[in-house]
Amino acid sequence: MTAFGLKKAARLLLFLWAAASLTFFLVHALPGDPVLDILGPNPSSEDVLRLRRSLQLDQPLATQYARYVLRLAVLDLGESLVDRKPVLATMLRYLPNTALLALASDEQVARLAALRLTGDVPSPMNKPSGCAFRTRCSIAQPSCADAVPPLAMKAGRLVACPVVQVGEGLI
Ligand code: SF4
Repeated sequence: MTAFGLKKAARLLLFLWAAASLTFFLVHALPGDPVLDILGPNPSSEDVLRLRRSLQLDQPLATQYARYVLRLAVLDLGESLVDRKPVLATMLRYLPNTALLALASDEQVARLAALRLTGDVPSPMNKPSGCAFRTRCSIAQPSCADAVPPLAMKAGRLVACPVVQVGEGLI
């Protein structure tokens, strides 16, 4: 790795450490008690003590912080308070679909930007004759004003346009 790459990696690690530390201390500064949140109303003091001990919340803050950073360093993100499942496993399960969605979203944004409609928005009270979309259609023909185009099957899709070519990048 080059010196530039090492510098970048060091900065990234510093950023992650700062973000994780800020999160840790903010969570501890928030009012409320996670143990009481988990146990619900009127828990017995034995249950509170037992859970506090098992979550190691009875340790000094510095010890908790050191343990938290060490666990993060080995990607041990602990268990979810909601479903008691390992957080890392849950994140990894959703990661591929999330990544796909993010990539697809970029493509969608580019496609939508390319498809930005211009022209007059037709009034639903006074629709144009023929195809109601023709005032905003970039491929409209004079014949589009004559009649409402019927739905027809084109390349496996129902399309109400006799002009558009399906499957050639237009739809
Ligand atoms: S029929 Fe097709 S080409 Fe004509 S205006 Fe409507 S969408 Fe555009």
